[in-house]
Amino acid sequence: MELLFLGTGSAYPSEERDHTSFAVSLNNGYCLVDVSGNPCRKLKQLGVDLNSITNVLITHTHIDHIYGLPALLWGMWLEGRKEPLVIHCQQSDESIVNKWLETIGFTSWQAEFEVKVMPFSRRLLEPVIEEQDVMVSPFPAHHSVDTVGYKFILGKKAIVYSADSTPNETIKKMGDINILIHEATFASSVTHNHTALEDLLQYYDTERIGDVVVVHRSDGEPYQAVHDSLPVKLKERVHLVEDLDTFHF
Ligand SMILES: [Zn+2]
Ligand SMILES: [Zn+2]
Repeated sequence: MELLFLGTGSAYPSEERDHTSFAVSLNNGYCLVDVSGNPCRKLKQLGVDLNSITNVLITHTHIDHIYGLPALLWGMWLEGRKEPLVIHCQQSDESIVNKWLETIGFTSWQAEFEVKVMPFSRRLLEPVIEEQDVMVSPFPAHHSVDTVGYKFILGKKAIVYSADSTPNETIKKMGDINILIHEATFASSVTHNHTALEDLLQYYDTERIGDVVVVHRSDGEPYQAVHDSLPVKLKERVHLVEDLDTFHF
């Protein structure tokens, strides 16, 4: 199983990164978490066939998390995709996703594939994907707009993504996590709506987390200095990933 990072940047314009988006391998194909940057180019650079993207999970509709959707669909259409693409989003975001499809005139392309928008209630915490030994469930994050993180149970592994959020007690209560993918918009201090790397490493019980993968990073922040200051045993489990990095587990 693998995590493939298309982008690792925060909302701020970056010289080094596309906005945060990543693919997670499922049994048959991949699901993409948020869609930004140039998704088709990044997927091709990562060796992922566009046809193998079966699901898209939207965390929230801030532009840095959804602006790549038109380019992804356009690329899929040009490559003659036939299989449906399922987009999961909060009920409150359904109309925005549908307006995106309307604005780009998706139905006028006469594409041979269907885009199924599957809204869910952020309160029910029910799985949005359940197949064989895979279960993907959203949970509420703490951000300036309604946002969800996602928990992936893949076989015996638990992978959790914070999405844009302050440190989240729901994640803290989850117990053992194999991989925590967490946003750190800043390295050492943050005002609100986001997390700083230092704060997240203090807030969570890192003894119960296998690896911490740090995304949604801003240019010019001293992440490396924070990383350098960590105790050796923690340091080797905290990963400052870059665009196009892959993580096997
Ligand atoms: Zn963001
Ligand atoms: Zn946001």
